[in-house]
Amino acid sequence: MTGRLAGRKIVITGAGSGIGRESARQFAREGATLALIDRDEAAAQVTADETGGHVFALDVTDEAAVETVVGRAAEALGGIDGLLNSAGILTMKTVDDIGVEEFRRVVDVNLTGTFLVCQAALPWLRKEPKAAIVNIASAQALLPSLTGSAYAASKAAVMMFSKSIAKELAPAVRVNIICPGATETPMTDQGVAPDDVAGRKALAAVYAMNRLAQPEEIAAGILFLMSDEAAAITGVALAIDNGRTFH
Ligand code: NAD
Repeated sequence: MTGRLAGRKIVITGAGSGIGRESARQFAREGATLALIDRDEAAAQVTADETGGHVFALDVTDEAAVETVVGRAAEALGGIDGLLNSAGILTMKTVDDIGVEEFRRVVDVNLTGTFLVCQAALPWLRKEPKAAIVNIASAQALLPSLTGSAYAASKAAVMMFSKSIAKELAPAVRVNIICPGATETPMTDQGVAPDDVAGRKALAAVYAMNRLAQPEEIAAGILFLMSDEAAAITGVALAIDNGRTFH
């Protein structure tokens, strides 16, 4: 442990899988104590068994429950000075095929869920000298979608929501965004199965580096933005996308 997050009190949503779980590992290694939130409580518990921390079952779209659970997380941690919103869902339907219910659900989880957790955590974040939020958008927030318009639109909205609150909340709370390209997690498995060799090859070829990212590579960027090393950075969207978005 090098202590880059020593003494920090961090809430993670989507902590039961993929990027959220790997971030929990890296945060814990760097000395943070954690509140691990997921709608899948058993999955969050698996993360906690490895990293320590307090587990909370929550669907981030459940407005009343968000406030209660974030309050309990703050109580358990003795405050909140870091928030990572990694809970999210993927849909890959075209505009011809997607129904309004599915469109609304993607926006509700990815965008409204992020908003609700940020808003509920703010009273605690504002009390802390090192308060930081990291929200997960996507490379699909920066370029027309590989994955369907609903997902891309929800992630572009997460990015601009986050930039906007970075402006509102400065200097009290830093807010930054990570835009991952395709990353080896269960979400990507859902889009292109791991044993679909041709599909995986085609997906990798979308990226200049001709590869997918590992969750460790995404979490390393999240850790940086959460830490004091990024004290001068707010409102920034950092693409970790194997060179899909050059700008
Ligand atoms: P994942 O599916 O492995 O993990 C997502 C976690 O979020 C799961 O544990 C799930 O139970 C939880 N979750 C989903 N809906 C929830 C809800 N309503 N309330 C609470 N928890 C909920 O996905 P991942 O790859 O780790 O993705 C993490 C974030 O990164 C997501 O926001 C995703 O959109 C984004 N992202 C992923 C990729 C990728 O290629 N994997 C690329 C770009 C962006």
